Amino acid sequence: MTAYDPENIFAKLLRGEIPAARVYEDEQTLAFMDIMPRADGHLLVIPKTPCRNVLDASPEQLAAVMQTVQKLSKAVIKAFSADGVTLQQFNEAAGGQEVFHLHFHILPRHEGDKMRPPG
Ligand code: C5P
Repeated sequence: MTAYDPENIFAKLLRGEIPAARVYEDEQTLAFMDIMPRADGHLLVIPKTPCRNVLDASPEQLAAVMQTVQKLSKAVIKAFSADGVTLQQFNEAAGGQEVFHLHFHILPRHEGDKMRPPG
């Protein structure tokens, strides 16, 4: 697998080199609003340590990220009066990944809604 690139956009975001609407942070993870939201309240959760995607993740990184995903899924359901969430996660270009730092999408969903297309 290709090595982790420390110049990827989420690495820059973690270093504070590019702005982000940060909504949650703990020792191991960060969450921020997706800049091209496909649903109101569309969040991204990332580990603070270098990791290309799930294929590259340590058990500790996966555990930390999933705990934050669960916590924030419950929080966005409350905040957006949603009925559920869609979680999305892409691995490598062939799998739809565009930014090569592990991230999970949290998309609040309402009964009968349709997710907006990307872009
Ligand atoms: O397909 P993948 O999940 O890798 O796409 C990257 C996601 O990161 C997109 O949803 C894009 O809107 C988001 N993004 C962001 N902030 C950036 C760059 C990309 O929220 N500065």
